[in-house]
Amino acid sequence: MKDVNNIKVSTKIDFPEYVLRILSELDRRNYQSFLVGGCVRDMIMEKSPTDWDIATSALPKQVKAIFTDDTTVDIGIKHGTVGVISNGGVVEITTFRHDGIYLDNRHPQNVEYVASIEEDLKRRDFTVNAIAYHPDRGFIDPMNGVADIDSNIIRAVGNADKRISEDALRIMRALRFSSTLGFEIDPELAGELHKSRELLNNIAAERISAELIKMLVGENVLSVLLNYSDVLSVIIPEIEAAVGFDQCSKYHCFDIWEHSARSVALSRPDKLLRLTLLMHDLGKPETFFLGEDGQGHFYGHNKTGERIALERLKALRLNKATAEKVAEVIHYHQLPLQSGNMKKWLMRLGEDTLRLILEVKRWDMATHAEQFIAPVIAKIDAAESELNEIIEQQSCFQVKDLAINGNDLIAIGIPKGEKIGEILNYLLELVVDNTLENTKESLIKAAEECM
Ligand code: ATP
Ligand code: MG
Repeated sequence: MKDVNNIKVSTKIDFPEYVLRILSELDRRNYQSFLVGGCVRDMIMEKSPTDWDIATSALPKQVKAIFTDDTTVDIGIKHGTVGVISNGGVVEITTFRHDGIYLDNRHPQNVEYVASIEEDLKRRDFTVNAIAYHPDRGFIDPMNGVADIDSNIIRAVGNADKRISEDALRIMRALRFSSTLGFEIDPELAGELHKSRELLNNIAAERISAELIKMLVGENVLSVLLNYSDVLSVIIPEIEAAVGFDQCSKYHCFDIWEHSARSVALSRPDKLLRLTLLMHDLGKPETFFLGEDGQGHFYGHNKTGERIALERLKALRLNKATAEKVAEVIHYHQLPLQSGNMKKWLMRLGEDTLRLILEVKRWDMATHAEQFIAPVIAKIDAAESELNEIIEQQSCFQVKDLAINGNDLIAIGIPKGEKIGEILNYLLELVVDNTLENTKESLIKAAEECM
């Protein structure tokens, strides 16, 4: 560790050559330039930054004039940002700026360029993101962001109320950073997130979902899901009914929302998996009924959940394939696991989806009442082994694994068209059922019987 401006920074940070080159090109022409934002935060936390942002006193057109030998892209030229593509990656270079008045909780009406990095840092969202660094000149930290990194706190730059109403996306960004960095949200900002949550309705769905996904795969996701369910209910309204909903079931020790949140937090930090777990039981409040045995039942909650997921994820403008996959896995999350039936499910759902379903079942089960967990986990283990074996043995479970194809059927006189697909699927079912051998001879014979 070395001490820079009284701040300990790992000397292990190797600045990529292309980043140092950009800084020195700007310095050489007497423009001030600093690394800012996530890369500085990551450096202080001794993590390797993934992308590099530079703030500079040079105007966008001056930046473009300097880097004529590189490709430059007008990433956000209106806001003063030019991307410089070097062999190592894209570095975003933004002119020191100050945001004008915000009229719609979203966009500043105009941006004004300012002369100093200190002014620029004031417009940034959180203190931990408002630190600038230059390898020769050290840190500029007027908001005491380094102290907040040390204390693991997300705090608004300046007045939380004002900063959130200026740009309500910061609500989601606060949750995202709390989850990914494992930081607490300072009480003033936390109060504001709750109070101003409805302002999220003014924010573009794509921007909300980008932050939501990053939040979901963070290490501190559980506390965010439990403490900010009211905020998340603004973007997925069905969450509200799930919070505190007593399942009245011996199988469950948590209410619907806590069960879901815990399953998300236990699972692998994968976008599809965690989105599915987040929403897998949102159909429960709507389908609840109390049986004569005094137990809660939720028949059909998988289908209701499937509908909710599809509707909400589409509204959040997640890509169609993701929304549909999450909905499909929710539909099948109660798939029965009997020994010997994996091949059938494999045929119907394909390997990726089936594996995802098994993983969802695992984390869903892991947050049930203790005494019911082990036997079901054993069944999931067995199903996964069965699946692995089928894949290893390259057994037949898809039409393309059959020993014949459409041309073989045409050759025996079956007319081209839909019928070919129908017959191949029928033959596949017989093979998967072990009713028919997967050899050309027996398949052709069975096909002839269909004619
Ligand atoms: P990541 O590691 O995800 O890249 P980051 O902190 O770099 O995290 P970015 O979204 O890349 O986040 O933004 C870069 C910097 O720009 C932030 O650190 C912050 O200083 C500033 N910033 C980004 N979005 C906002 C916003 N909505 N309001 C104020 N400042 C923002
Ligand atoms: Mg960044």
